[in-house]
Amino acid sequence: MAVTILDGKATAKAIREELQLEVQQWVNDGGPVPTLAAVLVGDDPASRVYVRNKERACQQAGMFSRLTHLPTDTSTAALLKLLDQLNADPAIHGILVQLPLPSQIDSQTVLDHVCPQKDVDAFAPENVGLLVQGRPRFLPCTPHGVLQLLHRYSIPTRGKHVVVVGRSDIVGKPMANMLVQRDCGLGPEYANATVTIGHSLTANLADITRQADILIAAVGRPRLITADMVRPGAVVIDVGINRVEDGLVGDVHYEEVAKVAAAITPVPGGVGPLTIAMLLRNTMLACRLQQA
Ligand code: NDP
Repeated sequence: MAVTILDGKATAKAIREELQLEVQQWVNDGGPVPTLAAVLVGDDPASRVYVRNKERACQQAGMFSRLTHLPTDTSTAALLKLLDQLNADPAIHGILVQLPLPSQIDSQTVLDHVCPQKDVDAFAPENVGLLVQGRPRFLPCTPHGVLQLLHRYSIPTRGKHVVVVGRSDIVGKPMANMLVQRDCGLGPEYANATVTIGHSLTANLADITRQADILIAAVGRPRLITADMVRPGAVVIDVGINRVEDGLVGDVHYEEVAKVAAAITPVPGGVGPLTIAMLLRNTMLACRLQQA
């Protein structure tokens, strides 16, 4: 059976076009233009590209973006002061602090300082807690992107065994938290999974990944997931983005795994574009919530 390539780029484009119409309608009805404040510290080239892509996506959707670019030697205190200003500014609806931050900055303190109502990345403890309790304010962008992709390709998760490899606060844990809910806003078919989480100390990882109906890799190790770790006919979602000599690759050995999987995401062009689309959706939502 031929493998289905889950096209994140096309899916994200469709979502962004829907969002553009939503923003237009909102503004025509007298709402303020949804505005995202992006904070970039230092000169990490990948971070600069990510921030530029997010700004461009905002503009395409009819939103405003406001970038503050701070020098590498910025202190935690200076960053907190900037966040105080952005938190208090009624013209700013969403705040994004681009990670990673330079090592002298206490990242957790900084992220905890973003006002939960403007926390469009959904990293703030209050928003994490609301998600865990099944009443999310904002859905975390990358995991939400994964669910949107499954939804738009009609691959339900209800009753399925989903194995998530990776337990970071940004991807693995919120992904698992969303999958075990009764409904995350996409209907019960796209929640209600039976979830197993793997990590670097998981014994016999391959034995576990082979049990997955849907395997989600969010590890940051190039081509870690090989064909022998995948049950034939499984759906494989590759969140990983790893820069190697021959370009960008995921956490999944794409060429091998595409021969056994029923469906797979490419890297690039898989989950990545959806993350940005979900960030924009959260910015629109934040704007609505702040006007309510
Ligand atoms: P982290 O480094 O924060 O977490 C990686 C996780 O993988 C950890 O839980 C770690 O386990 C686990 N892990 C590491 N090595 C192994 C191994 N050999 N076997 C099993 N588990 C392992 O990464 P992130 O979650 O932030 O990102 C993961 C990947 O996703 C990266 O490539 C990143 O670039 C990409 N990414 C992509 C996004 C997108 O939009 N597509 C967005 C965000 C990230 P332990 O906890 O035990 O250390």
